[in-house]
Amino acid sequence: MAKMKAVIKAKPGPGAELVDMEKPVPGPDQVLVKVLATSICGTDLHIYEWNEWAQARIKNLPQVMGHELCGEVLELGKNVKNVKKGDIISAETHIACGHCYLCHTGNAHICVNGKIFGVDVNGVFAEYAVVPGANAWILDEKIPKDFASVMEPLGNAVHTVLAGEITGNTVLVTGCGPIGVMSVAVSRICGATKVIATELNDYRIQLAKKVGADLVINPKKENVVEKVLKETDGLGIDVVLEMSGNPIAIKQAFESLRPGGRFSILGIPDKPMEIDLGKDIVFKYITVQGINGRLMFSTWHKTSRFLSSGRLDLEPIITHRFRLEEFEKGMELMQSGNCGKILLYP
Ligand code: NAD
Ligand code: ZN
Repeated sequence: MAKMKAVIKAKPGPGAELVDMEKPVPGPDQVLVKVLATSICGTDLHIYEWNEWAQARIKNLPQVMGHELCGEVLELGKNVKNVKKGDIISAETHIACGHCYLCHTGNAHICVNGKIFGVDVNGVFAEYAVVPGANAWILDEKIPKDFASVMEPLGNAVHTVLAGEITGNTVLVTGCGPIGVMSVAVSRICGATKVIATELNDYRIQLAKKVGADLVINPKKENVVEKVLKETDGLGIDVVLEMSGNPIAIKQAFESLRPGGRFSILGIPDKPMEIDLGKDIVFKYITVQGINGRLMFSTWHKTSRFLSSGRLDLEPIITHRFRLEEFEKGMELMQSGNCGKILLYP
């Protein structure tokens, strides 16, 4: 059996291990890819740290970590028709069943039988990986290969920004982790007239400014609600894109939103939190929406066009590049918050 290097979560508890393991064999509906680049997501860090969410969610150890990738197709399962050997792909990481109510009604991203690479099945922090042919996204040749791996989280940002009106609107992005920073950039190219962001970490505050935030507020130093009201002539912000998962940021966002506004939430709080439904939602007549994953595949088409047109540059957002063996360095950097997106090369 051919072997490969992979970063696995071997057992419950903090950490991960670099191991030699059997190279996977694609099933009839899968493709085998050589992983050219992979990137670290907050989810990977949660699994690495083994937080409460990971303890409750991760069932199938040992498991290869990671889900974001750029890969070259090496082998095709016999049923796969949509890609060919040599194609460079990214991949949708939500594996949908294709036959449930949600898949049948254009909502495969929230398939009731859905699985996720690196969470429910072996992931891509490895030299090789198998992905369902249906999940492969062939990279437009105008898009740099390095960007392919980051198209998945970028798709989260694109999905959230485009989930309601954006052009001509003022926008508040709460939290400038990699996806928040991408949301700032995408909001700008989609015609938001003012993009305000909030973030605690100085490195990320600078990153948000670099990609075009008009104003970045540090909630440790300034009153977010007062500042947003001042910047919007007392009205409040038209659109909130919640990208922190932090209850304090979420409360500030509710207060900063204008009556009738849109509140789109991608961020995931660690635990249940309280909100004042009457005051913050009902009387304010706002729309609150949860955002999960990416629309399959309309978000991918849009994300691809933003990149291939050159309208959107991910280069400032990819701040670090390491070899796969150095994954621990990447995880530590993610913990510190002094980074944007981190790429790992097997
Ligand atoms: P991240 O954890 O890297 O970024 C969150 C950022 O919020 C950090 O930079 C942090 O400093 C900042 N923050 C924390 N408290 C804050 C506060 N009070 N005010 C302002 N900023 C604050 O996360 P990410 O990878 O960029 O992802 C963004 C969020 O989206 C996370 O909560 C993640 O779990 C979630 N997520 C959801 C989906 C989905 O499908 N719904 C997919 C991917 C990620
Ligand atoms: Zn389904």
